[in-house]
Amino acid sequence: MRWVIVLVVIVALAAVGVYNAAGRGAPPRLTIDKPDRVVGQAGSVDVTAEAPNAQFTELAITLEQNGKTVPLFALDDATHDAASVTQSERDTLRISRAISKASIPELRSGAARIVVTATRPSLLNLRTLTSTASRDFQVRLEPPRITVVSTHHYVNHGGSEMVVYKATPPDVTSGVRVGDVEYVGGPAPVAGVDPSVKVAFFALLYDQALNAPIAAFARDEAGNQARASFVDNVFEKPQKKSQIDLDDKFIDRVVPEILDHAPQLKMATPTGSGKDMLPAFLKINGELRTINTDEIAAFAAKSSATRQWEGAFVQLGNSQVEASFADHRTYFYAGNEVDQQVHLGFDLAVTSHVAVVAANAGTVLNASWIGIYGNCIIIDHGLGVQSLYGHLSSFEVKAGDKVARGQTIGRTGMTGLAGGDHLHFTMLVGGHMVNPVEWWDPHWIADRVERKLAEAR
Ligand SMILES: [Zn+2]
Repeated sequence: MRWVIVLVVIVALAAVGVYNAAGRGAPPRLTIDKPDRVVGQAGSVDVTAEAPNAQFTELAITLEQNGKTVPLFALDDATHDAASVTQSERDTLRISRAISKASIPELRSGAARIVVTATRPSLLNLRTLTSTASRDFQVRLEPPRITVVSTHHYVNHGGSEMVVYKATPPDVTSGVRVGDVEYVGGPAPVAGVDPSVKVAFFALLYDQALNAPIAAFARDEAGNQARASFVDNVFEKPQKKSQIDLDDKFIDRVVPEILDHAPQLKMATPTGSGKDMLPAFLKINGELRTINTDEIAAFAAKSSATRQWEGAFVQLGNSQVEASFADHRTYFYAGNEVDQQVHLGFDLAVTSHVAVVAANAGTVLNASWIGIYGNCIIIDHGLGVQSLYGHLSSFEVKAGDKVARGQTIGRTGMTGLAGGDHLHFTMLVGGHMVNPVEWWDPHWIADRVERKLAEAR
């Protein structure tokens, strides 16, 4: 009889132990990957749920808004069909479901909350283990608005243009998109104008298609977007072709000095001359040119939000034009074609070490060596407009200096990839090299910039 009592006690203790063990297992792990903070017209809720072998007795997602609860997903009902469920790993389920006015008619703009509940069976199904996760976010269903204010917009291939537009609400990101390049606009430099009135300078780059789509855009933090087309016409500009014959004297002079300044190429200066230096020259002309283009483009992020310049830009006085914008150059060595590049600027020559002046008022962002451009100055004029001066022999300004239009900033020279003493000059819009001819032309400035700003008044 006594052994029966002992057995009952042992079984009872074991049952308690198993029940406790069942309760000690980890509840499901829930992560709400989306929404983050804001959902626009087309958002999604993305949830990751983890449990052993991805076994859940319950898994549900609901939306709470204005005191109402809307079921978005449950494992075993019709809402399942609106979501995509994937078992990405043995223990992990990923659930993704659209949040939009079309898929959830109850959805309203304003505060909302996502709640996720998951339950998994425990050891021998004796108990259940539950967890809950939630995320508060904002719903923004109204898209921003954009209206173009200025009129008569014409774009030359490789050239620039400006547009005045109104974007609301005033805090949205806005500007112009040309193909896949975005130019963010800034406050219109017009006294007393509504803060939602903006200007954007943009360009149709020499290597973009002539029919690349151009539109003003406004985009809020929820990803809602509005756009407006406004360009009246686009004009092709024929590219000039030129031939450059490389001689040993030139290669021997430029390669060692450029390599000394280009640790990023990880290339030792070759011994010997001419033919031995040619591979290094080609690396400089190709790879270093590309690196420098990116370095120069990065200065766009430092452009001020205010316009610092006025009137036409100043061209180097009494200069001979030796090369113009987007000239297509074919390089020959010992009679053989060895390279092709596009020259993105104007080469202007006078005599040696002639004074170079700031093309317009602005702030010096760079006065130091930049690869193929040698000693190089970049001036920011605000609203994404900048000018570049290459191959200088000396500097008379430093980064951070404010300069006036016509102020001497340095002297011409032949540093970097220069065959003789000259100034390499280009304009930059949004960090991209553009044809400076338009910026030198007072009629272009009057019609494309000042007329439109006057219209905004
Ligand atoms: Zn040049």
